[in-house]
Amino acid sequence: MTIKVGVNGYGTIGKRVADAVAMQKDMKLIGVTAHSYSFNTEVAKQKGYKIFTVDSDNDLKLNGIKSDGDMNNLLEEVDIIVDATPKKVGKENLDKYYKPKKVKAIFQGGEKHEIAGTSFVAQCNYNEALNKDYARIVSCNTTGLCRTLHAVDKKYGIESVHATMIRRGADPGDIHHGPINAIVPVLEMPSHHGPDVQTVLHNVEIFTTALSVPSTLMHLHTLTVDLKKKANVNDVIELFKNSTRIRIVRNAEHLRSTAEIIEFARDLGRLRGDMPEICVWQEAIGVISNSYNKLLYMQAVHQESDVVPENIDCIRAMTGFKDGAKSIAMTNKCFGIR
Ligand code: NAD
Repeated sequence: MTIKVGVNGYGTIGKRVADAVAMQKDMKLIGVTAHSYSFNTEVAKQKGYKIFTVDSDNDLKLNGIKSDGDMNNLLEEVDIIVDATPKKVGKENLDKYYKPKKVKAIFQGGEKHEIAGTSFVAQCNYNEALNKDYARIVSCNTTGLCRTLHAVDKKYGIESVHATMIRRGADPGDIHHGPINAIVPVLEMPSHHGPDVQTVLHNVEIFTTALSVPSTLMHLHTLTVDLKKKANVNDVIELFKNSTRIRIVRNAEHLRSTAEIIEFARDLGRLRGDMPEICVWQEAIGVISNSYNKLLYMQAVHQESDVVPENIDCIRAMTGFKDGAKSIAMTNKCFGIR
């Protein structure tokens, strides 16, 4: 069976998901939407993607692009739509388009858990999205937390977690956000990431704090995890090495920073220089095991790409593909990741 997929919202996440869908043997990209004309529309056209308009096609016409129809036409052709519009627009789209047209829809982390009632990270809870009409891919930060904490919880059991997210101020192509010369703490306790992790890892006790810094490349997380069983550093390194979509990076290979990790991804020839794996620094894994079992580690999260394979696996789960491990392997293969 070929799964027919549409992508609504062709920006940072949407264009990556569209390319990823187009690469899957069991999927067909029916088309993408253009809310307004931009260089993204030109690239979509050059790639041969069908372009559907959202409100009106005036902006496209003015710029010499002929649309292939509107949102309703797109929805008539697809089995499932991936909504990658800015936050809160997904909720409007659910009520305006997807529910009336009875089309399955995947939302992104800018929407609240309640929009779908199912929040998804493939290696943690693939089965929860099986045959669902709606699901939400959690945010880039939550995806990063869930991937590594899930592995740690399975092996050692987690008593509780404290994590701090040092967040990039804006995406590389974003000229509207910042900071450009400040460190900005999130002044709410906990930050929203902790409760968001619990929408996937339901039984993990976690408290998160966050701040933003003037960088565009990646987020960096520092985690302190109280474990139920004793751990040692070498076993934790092996655990992460053997867990999918997690990559151990080392100071010894001169991958000491987010800048070098992204340079590495570019040199690997990854599309757009993406690094969808969560990168854990080997030398920053520590264990304190005197009277208690504390695990400390630091990880880097490429915000533009870690959620993209999750969208692909979620498409399969929602359209009835039961074997989560197989889906993850198929997706990984085409991204060139383990
Ligand atoms: P973006 O601004 O880069 O892209 C959004 C796209 O949607 C733009 O092309 C815009 O023109 C289009 N759009 C706007 N209104 C629309 C409408 N009504 N209908 C159709 N298209 C419309 O945003 P993004 O960063 O890709 O974020 C999309 C979603 O993914 C959000 O929920 C966000 O929270 C989430 N997310 C973003 C990141 C990230 O770091 N960028 C990471 C993970 C998840």
